[in-house]
This record gives sequence, C-alpha cells and structure tokens, in this order.
Amino acid sequence: PFRAIVVSRDENKKQSVAITELTHADLMEGDVVVEVEATTVNYKDGLAITGRGPVVRRWPMVPGIDAAGTVISSTGTEFKAGDKVLLNGFGVGETHLGAYARYMQLKSDWLIPLPEGLSAHDTMAVGTAGYTAMLSVMALERHGITPSSGPIAVTGANGGVGTVAIALLSKLGFEVVASTGRMGEADFLKSLGATEVIDRAELSEPGKPLGKERFAGGIDAVGSHTLANLLAQTRYGGVVAACGLAQGMDLPTTVAPFILRGVTLCGIDSVMAPKPARIEAWQRIAKDLDMEKLKAISKTIGFEDIIGAATDILDGKIRGRVVVDMITS
Ligand code: NAP
Repeated sequence: PFRAIVVSRDENKKQSVAITELTHADLMEGDVVVEVEATTVNYKDGLAITGRGPVVRRWPMVPGIDAAGTVISSTGTEFKAGDKVLLNGFGVGETHLGAYARYMQLKSDWLIPLPEGLSAHDTMAVGTAGYTAMLSVMALERHGITPSSGPIAVTGANGGVGTVAIALLSKLGFEVVASTGRMGEADFLKSLGATEVIDRAELSEPGKPLGKERFAGGIDAVGSHTLANLLAQTRYGGVVAACGLAQGMDLPTTVAPFILRGVTLCGIDSVMAPKPARIEAWQRIAKDLDMEKLKAISKTIGFEDIIGAATDILDGKIRGRVVVDMITS
C-alpha cells in the first residue's frame, strides 16, 4: 500500500477529499509505472481538489497534473526501469489517476525524459504553470515579437505562470509590465525582471473596445475583462497569448483590436500540446530560465500540505510556485 490523495463524490455529487492508501491494483492501465519523486500544486490542481471547477472527470480520482520521477517498470520500448521522466498534463489528474500518490501507472507516450540540466525538483518548480509560460513566450516569438517590439504585459504576475513568464521574458531582454493585485510584492516582481508593476485594477474592470496603445504583446493568465483590456491596449500588430482564466472564462471583447490594429490573439494549451512542442519548451526552459530566479519563485512543501495549498492557490495566497517533495515528506 502507498499514500495517495483521493477525491470522491457521494450519490448527491458532493465532492470530498482525503489522504488514503492505494495499492498497485488500484492504478489505471498503462505500459509504465513511475515512482513520483516530486510534484506541484497548479491552479488546476486547486480546482480539482476543492471541486471549485469541473476538472475531475473520473471518480474517484487522484489529482495532480505534474510529476517528475523514476520509471519502476515498463513494458514499452521507449523507457526502461531507472529512467528519470517528466509528465505534464495529458489528462492525468483529470481523467487518469494523477501525481498525488507514490506511484503512477500511465502511457509512456505521455512522458518525456527529464530535461538535461534540470533536476526533478527543478522541473516541478517550473511545473505546468511555468511550461505554459514558456509556450506563451514561444508563441509571441513565433509571431515575430522581439525585445525591440516594445513592452510585454504579464497578468496574474505573482502567480505560477506570471512569475515564470517575467523571469523568462526578462532574461530574453524584454521590457516587462507586470499586472498584479498584490502591489506589496512589487519589489519581488522587479527582482524577477519586471520593469514596471501596475495594479491589476487598471485592467480588470469593464473597459473600452480600444484604448491607448501600450503593449507590444502580453501573456495573460487571467482572462475575462483583463484579457479584453489587454487586447484593447495592445499596439498595432501586437500579439497576446491567452493561457488562463483566474478572473473568469468569459472574454467580453470586440473585434476592434483585431480589425483595426491587426492584433493577434494566440491560444495556449499545455495539456494536449504535442511532444515536439513540449520537448522544445523544456529545452528552452533549461536554457532561458535563470535558476536563481526559479529558486526565488518557488518554495517546497510536504505531501500533507497539498490539500491546504489547493485552497490557498485558488484564494490567490500563493506567490509563485510550490514544489511537493514526495520522497522525504
Ligand atoms: P496561480 O499561481 O494561482 O496564478 C494566478 C494569478 O492570477 C494569481 O496569483 C493572481 O495574481 C491572479 N488572479 C487570481 N485571481 C484573480 C482575479 N479574480 N482577477 C485578476 N487576477 C487574478 O495559477 P497558475 O497555476 O499560474 O495558473 C494561472 C492560470 O493559467 C489559471 O487560470 C490556470 O488554469 C491557467 N493555466 C492554463 C494552462 C493552459 O494549458 N492553458 C496551463 C497552466 C495554467 P496577482 O496576485 O499577481 O494578481
């Protein structure tokens, strides 16, 4: 038997969460068994554990969308026992039993080798949030945005996506305008590389279809009015990567930014991103993320702390990223 966090539903669809014991027989189908060394708590894991968002689609479920660990056994050809591997998404923690357990059994197709130069702990300090920040930066680059284009807005700046996005953009030479509800953390955001910090209230209220042309681009983890205002304040030919919904899933915008300013809105999905894009993103993280900044962004918690962290992340109480050490805790 081994420890796991399990979310279940009763006959009235009321959700509950508990730390329980599972055995290998409880695990789902897959050609590889992985021992989880480290995991993390993303916004989505918070939604899954608390039931505040419809993330879990199989009951009971072990949440946890990210894991780094070691292959214990494999019937496939790609990995063998002892290989260090990384998993992000692919429905793990949503439809397939996830990372908040000592062992996972899953499809080897979902795994990539642990990126060179990064430890299991490092990859979880980055996690899906940070890897999504990298996918977002890559989308801006693919659409021709360079540091000379102008300032890039990062919304939800103190969150997981936001902090990693700021660190990445600053290392690449971009000017970064960080938008946050926690102005008390302005110095921290500047230490990560933000050139300017603005109060998120400037972007989060209903706004006009077009505003002053401020940003060459943006990385938005917030959605709703914030994304609408970001689009309205993006300069001619600018590019915004939309990756999150911390304010809301709605997008109360008009076509004005698109048809009058040629603004591009790029959708970012990390969950089903194809393997080559993942591998490229992780190679870029190993190269372009300052490891000292990653240390400053992340803190380590134990297995027992996951459920508390799930509520905290949804309440906007977590700064940056948390790593769960599954071996010593
Ligand atoms: P997180 O650490 O909780 O960061 C979210 C940040 O958004 C918060 O720290 C807060 O930043 C800001 N925020 C929270 N509530 C807000 C509100 N009501 N209005 C405006 N801003 C608000 O979460 P995360 O793990 O970085 O994820 C961020 C978002 O990206 C989530 O919606 C998540 O589901 C999404 N996501 C999507 C993908 C994908 O594949 N597309 C992958 C990863 C994450 P401040 O305190 O600085 O204001």
